[in-house]
Amino acid sequence: MKNLFILLAGILLSYTTFSQEETKEKIQKTFHSISSHDLLDYAAELSSQKYKGRLSGSPEYLKSAEWVAGKFEEWGVKPANKGSYFQYFDNAYTEVYSIGKVIWHGKDGSGINKELIFPEEFYPGSNSASGEITGEMVYAGFGITAPELDWDDYAGVDVSGKIAVMETGLPYTKNDPTLAKWTPYAYHRYKFKNAKEHGAAGLLYVSKIANPNTSYIDGFIYAHIDVPVAELMFSVAGKNYSEHKKSLTAEFKPSSFEMGQSVTISAETKNFPGSKACNVVGMIEGSDPVLKDEVILLGGHLDGQGYLGELYPSALDNASGVVDIMAAAKALAESEVRPKRSVLFVLFGGEECGLFGSEYYVNHPLFPVEKAVCMVNLDMVGNGAGFMVTNGMTYPDLYNYFSEANENWLHRSMRTSELRKNYGRPRSDESHFENAGYKTFSLYTSGSIKPVYYHQPYDDIEALTPEIMEDAAKLLYLTVLGIANNE
Ligand SMILES: [Zn+2]
Repeated sequence: MKNLFILLAGILLSYTTFSQEETKEKIQKTFHSISSHDLLDYAAELSSQKYKGRLSGSPEYLKSAEWVAGKFEEWGVKPANKGSYFQYFDNAYTEVYSIGKVIWHGKDGSGINKELIFPEEFYPGSNSASGEITGEMVYAGFGITAPELDWDDYAGVDVSGKIAVMETGLPYTKNDPTLAKWTPYAYHRYKFKNAKEHGAAGLLYVSKIANPNTSYIDGFIYAHIDVPVAELMFSVAGKNYSEHKKSLTAEFKPSSFEMGQSVTISAETKNFPGSKACNVVGMIEGSDPVLKDEVILLGGHLDGQGYLGELYPSALDNASGVVDIMAAAKALAESEVRPKRSVLFVLFGGEECGLFGSEYYVNHPLFPVEKAVCMVNLDMVGNGAGFMVTNGMTYPDLYNYFSEANENWLHRSMRTSELRKNYGRPRSDESHFENAGYKTFSLYTSGSIKPVYYHQPYDDIEALTPEIMEDAAKLLYLTVLGIANNE
């Protein structure tokens, strides 16, 4: 009898070992099916002219969303929103037809007409009104009027009918609970509205990037200028730009002034206030009858900076994250080892406009938040040699799946961090999930191999390193499968 027991135990054991070996082989097979060539092909598609930089709200953005949904369908990733791959929300957008012009006239009466050079010296405004304005320039600091915080950048200056020259951000930069009081003033939309309320006819924003996260205001024309241009303008006014800007925060006191110069800004645009954008939502239903109610979310924004008289392919930001998720979705859908828990893929719209898509999802979740195991966000995961996974020190049990996958299969450098509460303006899609109570991770690539062209027209597929995209997709496949099948 004892011998029989040993024999049976032996058979069972060898069966377990055999099936473990078999499972590993199946995983290995799917793992090796993830190829950098496919990832680069998807990124090239999304970054191509036909989607015009995927500006959220535009018809071309919706076309890119349809392309991704088509791929999901082809791979057996199911629609996650009552039979639909799309989750629509309101998203006004502005079409920018040309680069436009910024002509600086120097000191009043100087006769200077210096046309700023694109893209070295200026970028057009993503939500500028159409037309041309010429006006006197007024430096308006951070453009903030906050009596309760004893701050007014408009005190002592008159911007009525003039052009404000303005900084992004806040004079208060410490990430502590006090920052929350300043947060409403950090939004570009607030600054534009406040400038308009003070009578400004237009704006030169000292931050040379394409940025749809602003607002369209009738008749309000603006452009972005680079720091050296501001330095030149300040020097003509007899001031030092960087010292002046530094003094605003160092002395914590507004210091606006009439610059004694004028400028002409022209833009060719059209606003579409009633338009809609969408999140693309696909899912793989878990194979376990009970565990399938729990879900792992993978998110990343599909939208880009658009086409501002010139294509902004938005390849690294964030076609890269999207294609990593797509390749992981394909692998999980085709994997012979089925995930027991469900997996939801959410490709957000409206991120560049102000995190519209992630905010909409969190307010209209497709799975109850308490059934979500975690949410992993990918933004700019396509240029580098290693990985950064935020919040791993706060959620070590879940982070283990990332680090074990990396140690056993990928051997890249991988770092993590503790969850650090952000008291200021939310800056990426996972913030909305974090605030809603999800355990979030943000996956980045670290150690850039190529230059990073953040919100510039050069952010094309040449700026990507396909090998790390392949490894990011492999990492996601292994990590999600690990979390999904944990008893
Ligand atoms: Zn991004």
